[in-house]
Amino acid sequence: MKPQKIQFNEHCKGDNMNWPAIEETLNEESRTLKVEYMTKTTELLVATKTCTTCMQCVNVCPKNALARPILVKGVKTTKLERLPVFNKPLKCVFCGVCMVFCPYKAISMKINGNKLSSTDLPLMKSKILPSLTTVKLGKVEVGDFGFTNPFFERIINCITKKSD
Ligand code: SF4
Ligand code: SF4
Repeated sequence: MKPQKIQFNEHCKGDNMNWPAIEETLNEESRTLKVEYMTKTTELLVATKTCTTCMQCVNVCPKNALARPILVKGVKTTKLERLPVFNKPLKCVFCGVCMVFCPYKAISMKINGNKLSSTDLPLMKSKILPSLTTVKLGKVEVGDFGFTNPFFERIINCITKKSD
């Protein structure tokens, strides 16, 4: 697949200012969703080399912003074509759930070009998500013993159900 850039909205067309500007880029390194709003640029990157296409990120995304790619049986594909796709880019809220629950650390987020660690995420800071000592396909281990809340339980259900 050749490098591509897809603009999902035209943020400066005529007299209308339709922010944020949302685009997806595909190249050998990553599939990247980028949202620009005023002075803030947020990016979500799926690294081509590191991603194993396990689709755990698709299963946990609370906004259904990620999906499995549609592949035709028997048709040869590149790794880039097998990566999860941003099927509903306007729905992504950059919560970072996909990043936290990727077993292979293939997803990263940047704000204004600076990489975020999972502990920087509002969901982690506000303890809606616990710190995780292990993230595997279909299984996670929690650092805070006994941690629970409905949002986290829902995510765990998605992970375990899909790996059954
Ligand atoms: S969870 Fe990580 S390794 Fe699995 S498909 Fe998503 S980005 Fe790729
Ligand atoms: S950042 Fe949140 S909303 Fe966006 S794709 Fe990842 S899990 Fe879904």
